Amino acid sequence: MNDIFADRVMLGSEDRLAEMFGGSLGEDGIKFSAGNPNPDLFPITQMKRAFNQAIDKAGNQIFEYNTVNGFEKLRERLAHRAGQTAGIKADRENILITQGGQQALDLIGKLLLNAGDGVVVEAPTYVGALSAFDQYDPCYYDVALEEDGLNLEQLELVLQTHPNIKLLYTVPDFHNPTGVTLSLSKRQKLVELAEKYDFFILEDTPYRDLRYKGAKLPALKSFDRHGHVIFVSSFSKILMPGLRVGWIVADQATICHLRKLKTSSDLETPSIVLAALNQYLENNNLEQHITGMLATYQSRLDTMLTVLSETMPADVHYTQPEGGFFIWLTLPEVLDTQKLLSETCIPTDRISFVPGKVFYAHKNKKNGMRLNFSGVTEKQIELGIPKLAKSIQNAITA
Ligand code: PMP
Repeated sequence: MNDIFADRVMLGSEDRLAEMFGGSLGEDGIKFSAGNPNPDLFPITQMKRAFNQAIDKAGNQIFEYNTVNGFEKLRERLAHRAGQTAGIKADRENILITQGGQQALDLIGKLLLNAGDGVVVEAPTYVGALSAFDQYDPCYYDVALEEDGLNLEQLELVLQTHPNIKLLYTVPDFHNPTGVTLSLSKRQKLVELAEKYDFFILEDTPYRDLRYKGAKLPALKSFDRHGHVIFVSSFSKILMPGLRVGWIVADQATICHLRKLKTSSDLETPSIVLAALNQYLENNNLEQHITGMLATYQSRLDTMLTVLSETMPADVHYTQPEGGFFIWLTLPEVLDTQKLLSETCIPTDRISFVPGKVFYAHKNKKNGMRLNFSGVTEKQIELGIPKLAKSIQNAITA
C-alpha cells in the first residue's frame, strides 16, 4: 500500500519536526527543548473582546467565504509596520497574509524550487524550513554561521561553483536555533551578492521584534532594489501562535504568484481570525504589548547566560544572543548530543533540549544543542542548567 503515496512523502527521509523532542519528561521535568512563547504573556482579555467586536460588526458576513486578497486594512497596517519597524518601503499590494510563517516558507519553496534546484541554508538552520523545502527535493548547500551571521566568503565560493542556486534561506535576527544576528555590513553585502548572482533571499524574521539589548538593525529587505528579497514574519512570537497568522512582504509580481499558490492550497486564511486580529490592532498598541514582554524574556536570557558561565565546562562554547528565544551550545566534537539526551538528560536529569543534528540539512554534525529560555522560569533555569553542565562534564571525562 505504501507504493501508492507520492515520492515527496519520503523526501527528507524522516520527519524532521517529529525528531526534535524525543522522550517524555514527567510532571516536574524541565523543557529547554520548546520553542514556545510564554502563554502568561498572551493578551487574552483584549483578544476575546476583539473577537466579539469583530463578529458584532460584520455579522453573517464574517463566516462567509472571503477572498485571499481581502482584509485591505490589515495589509495596510502590515505594510506601514514594515516601514516603521524594519525600514521597508511597502504598500498593501506588497503584502500577502499567510497561515503562520510556516505556510509562507512552503509557498516560497513551491514558487521557486524544481527538483535539484540549489538552496543555500545556514549550518545550522531552522528545522521547519528544511521540512518545508524537502518536499520540493532541492539540493542543499550549507554555509557556516559565525557570531555575526553567515560566512560570506564561504557563501561566495558556493555561489561561484553552483549556478543552480535559486534561493538563500536566512533567519537574520536572533536565529533559530543559535540566537545569532547578522551584522549590518553583512546585510548590505548579502543583498549585493543576491543581485550579482541573481538568487532570491528568504528573510525569515519571527523573532525580529524581540530584542532585549543592543541596537535594532534594518531588514535585509530595506536594502533590496530589484526584488531579490522576500521578507517573512509572523504574529506567533509577538502575539499568539494559535492565531496562525504570518505575512510576506515582496515585490508585487512575486506576491501575485504567491497569492495564486495560496489560493490553490487553502482559498484563504480564516476571515474571523483576520477580522479579530485587525480589531485587536485597532483597539491596542501592538508595539506597547511587545515592549511589555521584553523584560520577562530578557531576565530569562540573562539568568541562563549567568548560570551557563558559572557551570559549563571550559570546552563548551555558547552564543550570546541579544534577543529571541534560543542559545546554542557547541560541545567537543567527539560528543553526540542526541545520545546525551536519550541516555542521561531525559531519564536521569529529567531535562530536555533539542540535539543539534536535526538543524543541519545533511544531519552531519552531532555536537550542538539548542536551549530555549523563553518557556522556562528563572527557577527552572537555576535548577536545570547545573544538571546539564554536570552531565556534559561527565560525558567529556568518560
Ligand atoms: N521561522 C522560524 C525561524 C521559526 O522559528 C518559526 C516557529 N518556530 C517559524 C518560522 C514558523 O512559525 P509560525 O508558523 O508559527 O509563524
